[in-house]
Amino acid sequence: MPNFNLPDSVFENAAKAFPTPFFLYDEAGIRQTIRSVKAAFSWAPHFMEYFAVKALPNPEVLRIFVEEGFGLDCASECELMLARRAGAQGKIMFSANDVPSGEFAYANQLGAILNLDDITDIEQILSECGRMPEVISIRFNPGGGFIADNDIIGSPEESKYGWTLAQMREGLKRLKGLGVKKFGIHALLSSNALESAYYPMLAELLMQTAHDLSAESGVEVAFVNLSGGVGIPYLPEEKPVDFSAVGKAVEKAYRKVFGEPTKGNVAICAELGRYMTGPHGWLVTKAIHRKDIYRNYIGVDGCSAQLPRPSIYGAYHHISVVGKRDATHTEVYDVVGSLCENSDKFAVQRQLPKVEMGDILLIHDAGAHCYAMGHNYNGRLRCAEIMLKENGELRMIRRAETPEDYFATLL
Ligand SMILES: *Cc1c(COP(=O)(O)O)cnc(C)c1O
Repeated sequence: MPNFNLPDSVFENAAKAFPTPFFLYDEAGIRQTIRSVKAAFSWAPHFMEYFAVKALPNPEVLRIFVEEGFGLDCASECELMLARRAGAQGKIMFSANDVPSGEFAYANQLGAILNLDDITDIEQILSECGRMPEVISIRFNPGGGFIADNDIIGSPEESKYGWTLAQMREGLKRLKGLGVKKFGIHALLSSNALESAYYPMLAELLMQTAHDLSAESGVEVAFVNLSGGVGIPYLPEEKPVDFSAVGKAVEKAYRKVFGEPTKGNVAICAELGRYMTGPHGWLVTKAIHRKDIYRNYIGVDGCSAQLPRPSIYGAYHHISVVGKRDATHTEVYDVVGSLCENSDKFAVQRQLPKVEMGDILLIHDAGAHCYAMGHNYNGRLRCAEIMLKENGELRMIRRAETPEDYFATLL
């Protein structure tokens, strides 16, 4: 079930205070999710969630994670700069791949843990940083298919990420010779997984693999990083993941492999993105055209340049009409933006209440991988981001782009 925690009055007030379209994020909701994740892993020694910056790269949002004691997961120079600005130095995971020259050195300078996507990263780090850090992380690719709850929920074999087991065996020996004292293990084997077995199955695989590699190489295990990939219920009939049950199941796997989760024993990390902020954001947009041909269309003032997931993946985002939550859904519409692309549809053949021009539509679950994936196709501009603060204040945390921004890179 999509998130309906905020009353319509919040969106009505926001749409009076700021021109549509804009994203609205709920700070209290984000903090609530942060605390529930913390609680689910309170049994773990040194639990650390590094929020995946790419999901919602706004420093005001990132600062919430830092304030709550969490870190940030980065994959590029600009994301590292954002993490620095958010005050996350010393609590950064650098999980990049195909890394451009110079980025390992910058990450290292910020005290980030370097998560090596490939065995050849060793040479690049040596040449950029002078030596290997004492603690490093290795991204594992087990190959084959990844199965949880009897379903294939990932295909590591087709994925470009990570090291093979044979490479990890060989690489750890090499790393030990280069002065590495401890290693972490990392894998991201699914995306938007609603199966509660995803994290526990992944945990067991990573823990067992790390345990065996450590016994073989003599390099100690510092942490197991379960990364991201936990899903959210975009569809009305979907249920949220029971995260406290997930925490308990991961603890069971931990005890099996590493014994008592006492202080000083192996740490648990995560790089959740979507799960942390996805439900706590909405694209707020206004109905501006109605068109009736073979189908009935509602044209809104937002488009897929601001929220491309439906146009790229055919992803479902729930839509509600402000002030008409309980109205009967008598109509069937395609809800569309203005791009000269027929894929620019927020909804296809969707049952909705009757929409009048000027109605405010909410595109739900837009708090992760939405603004961040925006673009300027057709000369359309990215919109503003507004934060509903815990005290009820609405604050603009990023202005909308202007034509000056669009032309700023031309020489
Ligand atoms: C995208 C990504 C994440 C976050 O994924 P979500 O699906 O948003 O949880 C975490 N770690 C890495 C390395 C990623 O690429």
